[in-house]
Amino acid sequence: MSALNLVADRINALEESATLGMSKKSRELAAQGHKVINLSVGEPDFKTPKHICDAAKAAIDAGFHHYTPVAGIPELRKAIADKLKRENNIDWKPENIVVSTGAKHSLANVISCLINPGDEVAILSPYWVSYSEMVKLAEGKSVIVEGKFENDFKVKPEQLEAAITDRTKIVMYASPNNPTGSIYSEAELRALAAVIENHENIFVLADEIYEYINFTDEGHFSMGSIPSMKDRVITVNGFAKGFAMTGWRLGYIAAAKWIADAVEKLQGQVTSGTNSIAQRAAVVAWDDTSAAESMKLAYLRRRNLVVGLLREIPGFKVNMPDGAFYAFPDVSYYFGKSDGNVTIQDADQLCMWLLETAHVALVGGGSFGAPNCLRLSTAASDEALTEAVARVKAALANLK
Ligand code: PMP
Ligand code: GLU
Repeated sequence: MSALNLVADRINALEESATLGMSKKSRELAAQGHKVINLSVGEPDFKTPKHICDAAKAAIDAGFHHYTPVAGIPELRKAIADKLKRENNIDWKPENIVVSTGAKHSLANVISCLINPGDEVAILSPYWVSYSEMVKLAEGKSVIVEGKFENDFKVKPEQLEAAITDRTKIVMYASPNNPTGSIYSEAELRALAAVIENHENIFVLADEIYEYINFTDEGHFSMGSIPSMKDRVITVNGFAKGFAMTGWRLGYIAAAKWIADAVEKLQGQVTSGTNSIAQRAAVVAWDDTSAAESMKLAYLRRRNLVVGLLREIPGFKVNMPDGAFYAFPDVSYYFGKSDGNVTIQDADQLCMWLLETAHVALVGGGSFGAPNCLRLSTAASDEALTEAVARVKAALANLK
Protein backbone atom coordinates (compact mmCIF):
# COMPACT_ATOMS: atom_id res chain seq x y z
CA MET A 1 0.00 0.00 0.00
CA SER A 2 1.46 3.39 -0.92
CA ALA A 3 1.68 6.01 1.79
CA LEU A 4 -0.79 8.12 -0.19
CA ASN A 5 -3.48 5.51 0.37
CA LEU A 6 -3.05 5.92 4.10
CA VAL A 7 -3.75 9.65 4.01
CA ALA A 8 -7.42 10.54 4.48
CA ASP A 9 -9.35 11.13 1.24
CA ARG A 10 -10.21 14.71 2.14
CA ILE A 11 -6.52 15.57 2.48
CA ASN A 12 -5.58 13.73 -0.70
CA ALA A 13 -8.23 15.79 -2.49
CA LEU A 14 -6.67 19.09 -1.34
CA GLU A 15 -4.39 21.04 -3.66
CA GLU A 16 -1.09 22.21 -2.26
CA SER A 17 -1.16 25.99 -1.69
CA ALA A 18 0.19 27.44 -4.96
CA THR A 19 1.61 30.50 -3.21
CA LEU A 20 3.49 28.49 -0.61
CA GLY A 21 4.39 25.83 -3.21
CA MET A 22 6.11 28.31 -5.54
CA SER A 23 7.93 29.83 -2.63
CA LYS A 24 9.24 26.41 -1.62
CA LYS A 25 10.43 25.69 -5.20
CA SER A 26 12.19 29.03 -5.33
CA ARG A 27 14.00 28.30 -2.04
CA GLU A 28 15.10 24.94 -3.44
CA LEU A 29 16.55 26.57 -6.57
CA ALA A 30 18.26 29.21 -4.43
CA ALA A 31 19.78 26.42 -2.28
CA GLN A 32 21.32 25.01 -5.47
CA GLY A 33 23.15 28.31 -5.86
CA HIS A 34 20.87 30.12 -8.36
CA LYS A 35 20.20 33.82 -7.85
CA VAL A 36 16.44 33.53 -7.58
CA ILE A 37 14.22 36.58 -7.15
CA ASN A 38 11.22 35.36 -5.21
CA LEU A 39 8.10 37.39 -5.95
CA SER A 40 5.76 34.45 -5.37
CA VAL A 41 4.64 34.57 -1.77
CA GLY A 42 2.74 37.69 -0.72
CA GLU A 43 4.52 38.82 2.40
CA PRO A 44 5.57 42.29 3.55
CA ASP A 45 9.34 42.78 3.39
CA PHE A 46 9.22 45.28 6.26
CA LYS A 47 9.89 44.73 9.94
CA THR A 48 7.08 44.70 12.48
CA PRO A 49 6.85 48.23 14.03
CA LYS A 50 9.02 48.69 17.11
CA HIS A 51 6.24 49.52 19.59
CA ILE A 52 4.65 46.12 18.84
CA CYS A 53 7.95 44.27 19.27
CA ASP A 54 8.56 46.13 22.55
CA ALA A 55 5.16 45.03 23.85
CA ALA A 56 6.02 41.41 22.99
CA LYS A 57 9.33 41.66 24.85
CA ALA A 58 7.55 43.15 27.86
CA ALA A 59 5.02 40.28 27.78
CA ILE A 60 7.83 37.71 27.82
CA ASP A 61 9.58 39.50 30.69
CA ALA A 62 6.32 39.72 32.60
CA GLY A 63 5.91 35.94 32.32
CA PHE A 64 2.79 36.10 30.16
CA HIS A 65 3.37 32.51 29.16
CA HIS A 66 0.17 30.65 29.84
CA TYR A 67 -2.84 29.53 27.87
CA THR A 68 -5.13 32.43 27.07
CA PRO A 69 -8.92 32.38 26.83
CA VAL A 70 -9.83 30.48 23.65
CA ALA A 71 -11.36 33.50 21.88
CA GLY A 72 -8.48 35.81 22.78
CA ILE A 73 -7.35 37.95 25.71
CA PRO A 74 -10.02 40.46 26.80
CA GLU A 75 -7.84 43.52 26.14
CA LEU A 76 -7.16 42.45 22.55
CA ARG A 77 -10.82 41.66 21.84
CA LYS A 78 -11.67 45.10 23.22
CA ALA A 79 -8.93 46.81 21.16
CA ILE A 80 -10.31 45.08 18.03
CA ALA A 81 -13.92 46.03 18.84
CA ASP A 82 -12.78 49.66 19.38
CA LYS A 83 -10.87 49.64 16.08
CA LEU A 84 -13.88 48.29 14.17
CA LYS A 85 -16.08 51.01 15.64
CA ARG A 86 -13.56 53.80 15.04
CA GLU A 87 -12.30 52.85 11.58
CA ASN A 88 -14.98 50.66 10.01
CA ASN A 89 -18.21 51.87 11.52
CA ILE A 90 -18.96 48.32 12.69
CA ASP A 91 -20.41 48.29 16.18
CA TRP A 92 -19.72 44.92 17.82
CA LYS A 93 -18.84 44.10 21.43
CA PRO A 94 -15.70 42.21 22.47
CA GLU A 95 -17.88 39.08 22.80
CA ASN A 96 -18.42 39.23 19.02
CA ILE A 97 -14.68 39.02 18.31
CA VAL A 98 -12.67 35.79 18.08
CA VAL A 99 -8.90 35.94 17.70
CA SER A 100 -7.23 33.09 15.80
CA THR A 101 -3.90 31.91 14.42
CA GLY A 102 -3.87 34.15 11.33
CA ALA A 103 -6.69 35.36 9.11
CA LYS A 104 -6.28 32.09 7.23
CA HIS A 105 -7.33 30.25 10.37
CA SER A 106 -10.21 32.67 10.93
CA LEU A 107 -11.53 32.02 7.42
CA ALA A 108 -11.21 28.25 7.76
CA ASN A 109 -12.96 28.35 11.14
CA VAL A 110 -15.96 30.25 9.79
CA ILE A 111 -16.30 27.99 6.76
CA SER A 112 -16.12 24.89 8.99
CA CYS A 113 -18.74 26.37 11.31
CA LEU A 114 -21.27 27.35 8.62
CA ILE A 115 -20.94 24.86 5.77
CA ASN A 116 -22.73 21.53 5.69
CA PRO A 117 -21.89 19.00 2.96
CA GLY A 118 -23.28 20.26 -0.34
CA ASP A 119 -23.75 23.87 0.75
CA GLU A 120 -22.50 26.36 -1.81
CA VAL A 121 -20.05 29.19 -1.33
CA ALA A 122 -20.14 31.85 -4.04
CA ILE A 123 -16.56 33.05 -4.36
CA LEU A 124 -15.95 36.34 -6.13
CA SER A 125 -13.08 35.61 -8.48
CA PRO A 126 -10.14 36.05 -8.95
CA TYR A 127 -9.80 34.82 -5.40
CA TRP A 128 -7.10 33.87 -2.96
CA VAL A 129 -5.89 30.28 -3.49
CA SER A 130 -6.96 28.87 -0.15
CA TYR A 131 -10.66 29.83 -0.32
CA SER A 132 -11.78 26.98 -2.57
CA GLU A 133 -9.67 24.44 -0.71
CA MET A 134 -11.14 25.48 2.64
CA VAL A 135 -14.61 24.99 1.17
CA LYS A 136 -13.59 21.58 -0.15
CA LEU A 137 -12.32 20.58 3.29
CA ALA A 138 -15.74 21.45 4.74
CA GLU A 139 -17.36 19.34 1.98
CA GLY A 140 -19.00 22.40 0.50
CA LYS A 141 -19.13 23.40 -3.15
CA SER A 142 -17.37 26.49 -4.50
CA VAL A 143 -19.27 28.44 -7.12
CA ILE A 144 -16.78 30.71 -8.84
CA VAL A 145 -18.22 34.04 -9.99
CA GLU A 146 -15.81 35.59 -12.44
CA GLY A 147 -14.84 39.24 -12.28
CA LYS A 148 -13.65 40.10 -15.77
CA PHE A 149 -10.43 41.94 -16.64
CA GLU A 150 -12.55 44.54 -18.46
CA ASN A 151 -14.40 45.31 -15.21
CA ASP A 152 -11.19 45.61 -13.20
CA PHE A 153 -11.68 41.95 -12.19
CA LYS A 154 -14.81 42.84 -10.24
CA VAL A 155 -18.10 40.95 -10.15
CA LYS A 156 -21.28 42.80 -11.09
CA PRO A 157 -24.46 42.46 -9.01
CA GLU A 158 -26.34 40.68 -11.83
CA GLN A 159 -23.55 38.07 -12.04
CA LEU A 160 -23.83 37.41 -8.31
CA GLU A 161 -27.62 37.16 -8.56
CA ALA A 162 -27.28 34.57 -11.34
CA ALA A 163 -24.84 32.49 -9.25
CA ILE A 164 -27.08 32.26 -6.17
CA THR A 165 -29.08 29.05 -5.70
CA ASP A 166 -31.13 27.68 -2.84
CA ARG A 167 -27.96 25.93 -1.60
CA THR A 168 -25.92 29.15 -1.35
CA LYS A 169 -24.82 29.72 2.24
CA ILE A 170 -21.88 32.13 1.96
CA VAL A 171 -20.71 34.82 -0.45
CA MET A 172 -16.98 35.33 -0.01
CA TYR A 173 -14.62 38.02 -1.26
CA ALA A 174 -11.46 39.93 -0.45
CA SER A 175 -11.27 43.69 -0.91
CA PRO A 176 -8.59 44.91 -1.43
CA ASN A 177 -8.18 41.77 -3.45
CA ASN A 178 -5.45 39.18 -3.58
CA PRO A 179 -4.37 38.56 -6.39
CA THR A 180 -5.70 41.50 -8.43
CA GLY A 181 -5.34 44.47 -6.05
CA SER A 182 -8.85 45.55 -7.07
CA ILE A 183 -11.04 47.30 -4.53
CA TYR A 184 -14.80 47.19 -4.38
CA SER A 185 -16.05 50.74 -3.78
CA GLU A 186 -18.76 51.54 -1.27
CA ALA A 187 -21.31 51.81 -4.10
CA GLU A 188 -20.26 48.44 -5.51
CA LEU A 189 -20.43 46.73 -2.11
CA ARG A 190 -23.84 48.26 -1.42
CA ALA A 191 -25.08 46.94 -4.77
CA LEU A 192 -23.80 43.43 -3.98
CA ALA A 193 -25.33 43.64 -0.50
CA ALA A 194 -28.68 44.57 -2.05
CA VAL A 195 -28.60 41.30 -4.03
CA ILE A 196 -27.70 39.24 -0.96
CA GLU A 197 -30.35 40.89 1.22
CA ASN A 198 -33.05 39.51 -1.05
CA HIS A 199 -32.04 35.96 -0.13
CA GLU A 200 -32.58 34.63 3.35
CA ASN A 201 -29.80 32.86 5.21
CA ILE A 202 -26.91 33.87 2.99
CA PHE A 203 -23.88 35.09 4.90
CA VAL A 204 -20.97 37.17 3.71
CA LEU A 205 -17.36 36.41 4.49
CA ALA A 206 -15.61 39.74 3.96
CA ASP A 207 -11.83 39.34 3.95
CA GLU A 208 -10.35 42.76 4.74
CA ILE A 209 -6.77 41.70 5.46
CA TYR A 210 -5.36 44.26 2.97
CA GLU A 211 -7.49 47.09 4.38
CA TYR A 212 -4.54 49.37 5.13
CA ILE A 213 -2.98 48.95 1.69
CA ASN A 214 -5.55 51.00 -0.17
CA PHE A 215 -4.47 53.68 -2.67
CA THR A 216 -7.91 55.09 -3.47
CA ASP A 217 -9.15 58.52 -2.37
CA GLU A 218 -12.38 56.94 -1.17
CA GLY A 219 -10.63 54.61 1.26
CA HIS A 220 -11.87 51.36 2.72
CA PHE A 221 -15.52 50.42 3.08
CA SER A 222 -16.75 47.44 5.12
CA MET A 223 -19.95 45.69 4.07
CA GLY A 224 -20.46 44.87 7.74
CA SER A 225 -21.15 48.56 8.40
CA ILE A 226 -24.44 48.43 6.45
CA PRO A 227 -26.97 48.15 9.30
CA SER A 228 -29.30 45.74 7.51
CA MET A 229 -26.34 43.42 6.77
CA LYS A 230 -24.66 43.57 10.17
CA ASP A 231 -25.88 40.18 11.42
CA ARG A 232 -25.02 38.48 8.15
CA VAL A 233 -21.50 39.75 7.51
CA ILE A 234 -18.51 38.06 9.10
CA THR A 235 -15.66 40.54 8.86
CA VAL A 236 -12.22 38.92 8.78
CA ASN A 237 -9.03 40.84 9.30
CA GLY A 238 -5.61 40.42 10.86
CA PHE A 239 -2.23 41.95 11.53
CA ALA A 240 -0.10 40.22 8.89
CA LYS A 241 -0.32 42.73 6.06
CA GLY A 242 -1.03 46.16 7.56
CA PHE A 243 1.44 45.75 10.44
CA ALA A 244 3.91 43.41 8.72
CA MET A 245 3.25 40.61 11.22
CA THR A 246 2.94 37.51 9.03
CA GLY A 247 4.94 35.19 11.28
CA TRP A 248 3.16 36.26 14.46
CA ARG A 249 0.03 34.44 13.22
CA LEU A 250 -2.83 36.61 14.37
CA GLY A 251 -6.18 37.08 12.72
CA TYR A 252 -9.72 37.71 13.89
CA ILE A 253 -13.39 37.65 13.03
CA ALA A 254 -16.15 40.03 14.02
CA ALA A 255 -19.56 38.43 13.73
CA ALA A 256 -22.95 37.78 15.27
CA LYS A 257 -22.61 36.15 18.69
CA TRP A 258 -23.85 32.72 17.61
CA ILE A 259 -21.16 32.59 14.90
CA ALA A 260 -18.45 33.82 17.27
CA ASP A 261 -19.58 31.20 19.79
CA ALA A 262 -19.41 28.41 17.20
CA VAL A 263 -15.90 29.47 16.17
CA GLU A 264 -14.83 29.59 19.81
CA LYS A 265 -16.21 26.08 20.35
CA LEU A 266 -14.34 24.72 17.32
CA GLN A 267 -11.15 26.49 18.30
CA GLY A 268 -11.51 25.17 21.86
CA GLN A 269 -11.24 21.63 20.54
CA VAL A 270 -8.60 22.16 17.86
CA THR A 271 -6.07 24.90 18.66
CA SER A 272 -7.06 26.68 21.92
CA GLY A 273 -6.33 30.39 22.12
CA THR A 274 -3.52 31.61 19.89
CA ASN A 275 -0.05 32.66 21.02
CA SER A 276 -0.15 34.68 24.25
CA ILE A 277 2.85 36.93 23.48
CA ALA A 278 1.58 37.80 20.00
CA GLN A 279 -1.80 38.76 21.45
CA ARG A 280 -0.26 41.05 24.05
CA ALA A 281 1.85 42.68 21.34
CA ALA A 282 -1.14 43.25 19.06
CA VAL A 283 -3.03 45.16 21.75
CA VAL A 284 -0.77 48.18 21.15
CA ALA A 285 -0.76 47.95 17.33
CA TRP A 286 -3.13 50.90 16.83
CA ASP A 287 -1.27 53.13 19.29
CA ASP A 288 0.95 54.17 16.38
CA THR A 289 -0.12 53.61 12.77
CA SER A 290 2.65 55.72 11.21
CA ALA A 291 4.62 52.63 10.09
CA ALA A 292 1.51 51.15 8.47
CA GLU A 293 1.06 54.44 6.60
CA SER A 294 4.66 54.59 5.38
CA MET A 295 4.55 50.94 4.27
CA LYS A 296 1.46 51.78 2.23
CA LEU A 297 3.30 54.62 0.52
CA ALA A 298 6.17 52.27 -0.32
CA TYR A 299 3.73 49.77 -1.85
CA LEU A 300 2.17 52.57 -3.88
CA ARG A 301 5.55 53.65 -5.24
CA ARG A 302 6.40 50.04 -6.12
CA ARG A 303 3.04 49.51 -7.79
CA ASN A 304 3.70 52.48 -10.05
CA LEU A 305 7.19 51.21 -10.83
CA VAL A 306 6.14 47.63 -11.57
CA VAL A 307 2.99 48.40 -13.56
CA GLY A 308 5.02 50.83 -15.70
CA LEU A 309 7.68 48.17 -16.37
CA LEU A 310 5.17 45.36 -17.00
CA ARG A 311 3.29 47.48 -19.50
CA GLU A 312 6.48 47.66 -21.58
CA ILE A 313 6.48 43.87 -22.06
CA PRO A 314 5.00 42.99 -25.47
CA GLY A 315 1.61 41.27 -25.18
CA PHE A 316 1.07 41.83 -21.43
CA LYS A 317 -2.29 43.35 -20.44
CA VAL A 318 -1.89 45.00 -17.05
CA ASN A 319 -4.65 46.41 -14.85
CA MET A 320 -3.88 49.15 -12.33
CA PRO A 321 -4.22 47.66 -8.83
CA ASP A 322 -5.91 50.03 -6.36
CA GLY A 323 -4.48 48.29 -3.32
CA ALA A 324 -2.64 45.28 -1.81
CA PHE A 325 0.84 44.46 -3.12
CA TYR A 326 0.37 42.45 -6.26
CA ALA A 327 0.36 42.96 -10.01
CA PHE A 328 -1.76 40.52 -12.01
CA PRO A 329 -1.05 40.82 -15.75
CA ASP A 330 -2.92 38.83 -18.39
CA VAL A 331 -0.17 36.92 -20.21
CA SER A 332 -2.31 34.82 -22.58
CA TYR A 333 -0.50 36.41 -25.55
CA TYR A 334 2.32 33.89 -24.90
CA PHE A 335 0.14 30.76 -24.90
CA GLY A 336 1.03 28.50 -27.83
CA LYS A 337 4.47 30.13 -28.21
CA SER A 338 7.63 28.05 -27.83
CA ASP A 339 11.33 28.42 -27.06
CA GLY A 340 11.99 25.56 -29.50
CA ASN A 341 11.77 23.08 -26.65
CA VAL A 342 8.77 23.87 -24.48
CA THR A 343 5.41 25.16 -25.75
CA ILE A 344 3.62 27.33 -23.22
CA GLN A 345 0.04 26.16 -22.55
CA ASP A 346 -1.09 28.37 -19.67
CA ALA A 347 0.10 30.83 -17.05
CA ASP A 348 0.99 28.13 -14.52
CA GLN A 349 3.34 26.54 -17.02
CA LEU A 350 4.69 29.95 -18.01
CA CYS A 351 5.55 30.55 -14.34
CA MET A 352 7.46 27.29 -14.08
CA TRP A 353 9.30 28.14 -17.28
CA LEU A 354 10.16 31.61 -15.99
CA LEU A 355 11.39 30.16 -12.69
CA GLU A 356 13.67 27.72 -14.52
CA THR A 357 14.92 30.07 -17.24
CA ALA A 358 14.85 33.53 -15.63
CA HIS A 359 15.03 32.45 -11.97
CA VAL A 360 12.11 34.66 -11.08
CA ALA A 361 9.41 33.08 -8.91
CA LEU A 362 5.83 34.19 -9.64
CA VAL A 363 2.50 32.39 -9.20
CA GLY A 364 0.29 31.27 -12.08
CA GLY A 365 -3.30 32.50 -12.05
CA GLY A 366 -4.83 28.98 -12.34
CA SER A 367 -5.22 28.55 -8.61
CA PHE A 368 -6.64 32.06 -8.28
CA GLY A 369 -9.38 31.25 -10.79
CA ALA A 370 -7.70 33.23 -13.60
CA PRO A 371 -5.62 30.93 -15.82
CA ASN A 372 -4.71 33.75 -18.24
CA CYS A 373 -2.88 35.76 -15.58
CA LEU A 374 0.10 35.50 -13.32
CA ARG A 375 0.76 37.17 -9.99
CA LEU A 376 3.82 39.12 -9.03
CA SER A 377 4.24 40.33 -5.44
CA THR A 378 5.49 43.89 -5.20
CA ALA A 379 6.57 43.39 -1.59
CA ALA A 380 10.26 43.58 -2.52
CA SER A 381 12.89 46.27 -3.06
CA ASP A 382 12.78 48.55 -6.12
CA GLU A 383 16.05 46.95 -7.30
CA ALA A 384 14.70 43.39 -7.02
CA LEU A 385 11.47 44.35 -8.78
CA THR A 386 13.27 46.15 -11.61
CA GLU A 387 15.72 43.27 -12.09
CA ALA A 388 12.93 40.66 -11.97
CA VAL A 389 10.80 42.34 -14.63
CA ALA A 390 13.88 42.86 -16.84
CA ARG A 391 14.69 39.13 -16.57
CA VAL A 392 11.10 38.17 -17.39
CA LYS A 393 11.04 40.50 -20.39
CA ALA A 394 14.35 39.15 -21.72
CA ALA A 395 13.23 35.51 -21.27
CA LEU A 396 9.88 36.09 -22.98
CA ALA A 397 11.65 37.52 -26.03
CA ASN A 398 12.81 33.91 -26.70
CA LEU A 399 9.24 32.64 -27.07
CA LYS A 400 8.16 32.60 -30.71
N1 PMP B 1 -6.65 36.48 3.09
C1 PMP B 1 -5.92 36.88 2.05
C2 PMP B 1 -6.62 37.45 0.87
C3 PMP B 1 -4.53 36.76 2.07
O1 PMP B 1 -3.80 37.15 1.02
C4 PMP B 1 -3.90 36.23 3.20
C5 PMP B 1 -2.40 36.16 3.20
N2 PMP B 1 -1.84 35.04 3.57
C6 PMP B 1 -4.71 35.80 4.26
C7 PMP B 1 -6.08 35.95 4.18
C8 PMP B 1 -4.16 35.15 5.50
O2 PMP B 1 -3.44 35.99 6.30
P1 PMP B 1 -2.74 35.48 7.64
O3 PMP B 1 -1.28 35.53 7.38
O4 PMP B 1 -3.19 36.44 8.69
O5 PMP B 1 -3.22 34.09 7.91
N1 GLU C 1 -1.08 36.05 1.34
C1 GLU C 1 0.11 35.39 0.93
C2 GLU C 1 0.00 34.95 -0.50
O1 GLU C 1 -1.06 34.95 -1.06
C3 GLU C 1 0.59 34.38 1.89
C4 GLU C 1 0.83 32.98 1.46
C5 GLU C 1 -0.27 32.09 1.86
O2 GLU C 1 -0.58 32.03 3.05
O3 GLU C 1 -0.84 31.48 0.96
O4 GLU C 1 1.00 34.70 -1.09
